[in-house]
Amino acid sequence: MIPVAFDYQKAGSVDEAIAALSSGDSKILAGGHSLLPAMKLRLNQPAKLIDISRIEALKGIREEGGEIVIGAGTTHGDIATSELIRNKLSFFAEAAALIGDVQVRNYGTIGGSLAHADPAADWPALVLAADAGIEVKGSGGLRKIAATDFFTGFFSTALGENEIITAIRVPIPAAGTKMNYQKFSQPASRFAIVGCAAMRSPDGKTRIAFTGVSENAFRATAAENALSGQPVSDASIGSAADLALAGVNVLGDHFASSEYRQHLARVYLAKALNAVS
Ligand SMILES: Cc1cc2nc3c(=O)[nH]c(=O)nc-3n(C[C@H](O)[C@H](O)[C@H](O)COP(=O)(O)OP(=O)(O)OC[C@H]3O[C@@H](n4cnc5c(N)ncnc54)[C@H](O)[C@@H]3O)c2cc1C
Repeated sequence: MIPVAFDYQKAGSVDEAIAALSSGDSKILAGGHSLLPAMKLRLNQPAKLIDISRIEALKGIREEGGEIVIGAGTTHGDIATSELIRNKLSFFAEAAALIGDVQVRNYGTIGGSLAHADPAADWPALVLAADAGIEVKGSGGLRKIAATDFFTGFFSTALGENEIITAIRVPIPAAGTKMNYQKFSQPASRFAIVGCAAMRSPDGKTRIAFTGVSENAFRATAAENALSGQPVSDASIGSAADLALAGVNVLGDHFASSEYRQHLARVYLAKALNAVS
């Protein structure tokens, strides 16, 4: 399929991109690995694309004031191979290496994935479990949105109309914290049919987040509270799974029925929790 004709502007800076975004029916283009397929299917028909892929200020990974700061334009591939990420946020590196194929990892960006908020994307579960902040910039300046407030529904986020994600800020986990991401992948695309990210600090404080299970990724807060400071066992994992899925509208589609997804969520929660206990 061929997309509807559109104008194209290469932005040289974040401010230039924000100004261009404010000027009408336009969309940001980062790696293009979600937007271009949607345009080819004519699910999206922006009049103009603003290409942010050459803005150096949006790229790279650094440590700053007790946080790991990942530029929104950093590719999945760069996160997978970053020494800093491997040392301090290992489940980000492991998850990045499981995304799509080499081409997707070399073009696709963490910021693009979060803005797109595909219910089967990997990054939402990771930023939720890591308690990250999503730094965004618009004409009103910079603000930080907690990951827990960012995903608002099916392909929906708290991002304002003319705002751009500039960075992901992740508090550096305490020494000895264990972290893990487990996913049951769609075999062709490798999107998560179910993905579960877990983090557990030495004092037993536990964070759990799911993707693929419902309209948007979510933290399993009741399960976290039940497990925090308590030993992880088959029994406590079973109760945590009950709490995690209570009241959740579990998706069913041609890849996995709702019942099967619930089963997968329990299995992948157990795998992630066993890995961090
Ligand atoms: C074959 C294939 C397999 C894939 N497999 C997986 C997988 O296993 N797991 C997974 O999680 N994903 C997967 N993806 C999706 C991939 O990770 C995308 O790259 C990612 O979701 C979007 O990032 P992008 O940089 O390509 O964004 P784009 O496609 O350029 O943009 C996506 C959306 O985000 C907006 N946007 C982009 N950057 C910003 C920004 N900084 N601020 C505000 N808005 C922005 C755009 O306007 C657009 O609406 C796959 C994609 C393909 C094509």
